[in-house]
Amino acid sequence: MNYDIHIVGAGFAGLACARAAARRGLRVLVIDRKRSPGERMHTTGLVVKEAAERWEIPSALTRRVHGIRLYSPSLRTLDLTSAGYYFLATDTPALMRWLAREAARAGAHLRFGHAYDASAITARYVVGADGPRSRVARDCGLGTNREFLVGVEAEYEGVRGLDDDRLHCFLDGKLARGYIGWIVPGYNGVAQIGLACRHPRKPDLRAFLRKVASIVDMSQARCLGHRAGLIPVGGPVSPIGAGNAMLVGDAAGLVSPLSAGGIHTALESGWTAAHAIADHLLEDGEAPAAVIARSTPRFAGKRAMRALFDRGVPDAAFDALLSTRAFSALARSVYFHHRGLASAAGWRDLAHTLLRGQP
Ligand SMILES: Cc1cc2nc3c(=O)[nH]c(=O)nc-3n(C[C@H](O)[C@H](O)[C@H](O)COP(=O)(O)OP(=O)(O)OC[C@H]3O[C@@H](n4cnc5c(N)ncnc54)[C@H](O)[C@@H]3O)c2cc1C
Repeated sequence: MNYDIHIVGAGFAGLACARAAARRGLRVLVIDRKRSPGERMHTTGLVVKEAAERWEIPSALTRRVHGIRLYSPSLRTLDLTSAGYYFLATDTPALMRWLAREAARAGAHLRFGHAYDASAITARYVVGADGPRSRVARDCGLGTNREFLVGVEAEYEGVRGLDDDRLHCFLDGKLARGYIGWIVPGYNGVAQIGLACRHPRKPDLRAFLRKVASIVDMSQARCLGHRAGLIPVGGPVSPIGAGNAMLVGDAAGLVSPLSAGGIHTALESGWTAAHAIADHLLEDGEAPAAVIARSTPRFAGKRAMRALFDRGVPDAAFDALLSTRAFSALARSVYFHHRGLASAAGWRDLAHTLLRGQP
């Protein structure tokens, strides 16, 4: 069969692209080297409210978590909420299977257990949705990611004493330099405990587990598995597309440099690429690479904050800052507004917290 689009990678970005393109009537092939969707997950799988709503993720695959508990290095806490806002912990393997079914139902052809082979591509467009170390990017002469966090987490059942309506986020300049540690009260009573730090450092999960054992009861906990991977945090690659090739999701560097959340942007970028290609092929629209370059978020403010974070914030400073109104305002804009201070709502929330304290 002659395909219009050959998508490499059946992750969030690739499957979103496949579903949207097939719905527009294009002939779509998706390949992935995994044997099945949902195999060997590397992500915590937390989804922001906006993504869950836009993609109509079935509620049976998620559980809502309504607030954040932020811990300073000495384990002082700050609770953050935002009226009507929540995050969704997911049954991530089941979510990937659902996304794959949706893409197939729309008419896309999915082939698992197939690694990318440049010489096998005959489609009119190739979309690199193949993650942070994209081979499509290299082969097609597109931009590649250069700055990463390394994340690792373990899934446990039997963790006790955890407030399961909060994401527990740990600031710790030694264990999680450049990022945070976390406990996510996940799906089906499983707690996901992990941390990330700036590449090429290696996150010390054992040390972090020792630390969290002072606030939760791990005596009956049993480890069910691990998830780990690279998170690109240098912002969008350049060029993101050229000619008949383009990148989406992590391959394109479309991860929030500060929160390191990439699922929402992966889904959105897959959707945008699909429509840009469909508009070009079906409606004589402008070159897809130009549309994609134009619609790419730049993350300018978040990249500036990342540069500060990367230099290393002393633990004493985190301890002192945690109780200040300014820190609380900033944390709220990072956690509850996925576009941060690039959104009007983010600024409103910041001003409100600074002037009146948290509502
Ligand atoms: C530890 C960790 C925790 C995270 N937690 C969160 C979170 O809670 N929320 C959030 O929003 N983001 C999170 N992220 C980031 C998020 O997981 C990614 O941004 C997101 O998965 C990107 O989706 P993607 O489709 O672009 O890439 P991926 O999900 O990486 O999918 C790429 C696909 O391409 C396939 N592939 C790669 N190379 C080839 C090849 N040569 N041939 C064929 N197939 C190939 C892979 O098998 C894979 O299926 C986390 C990341 C890590 C590492």
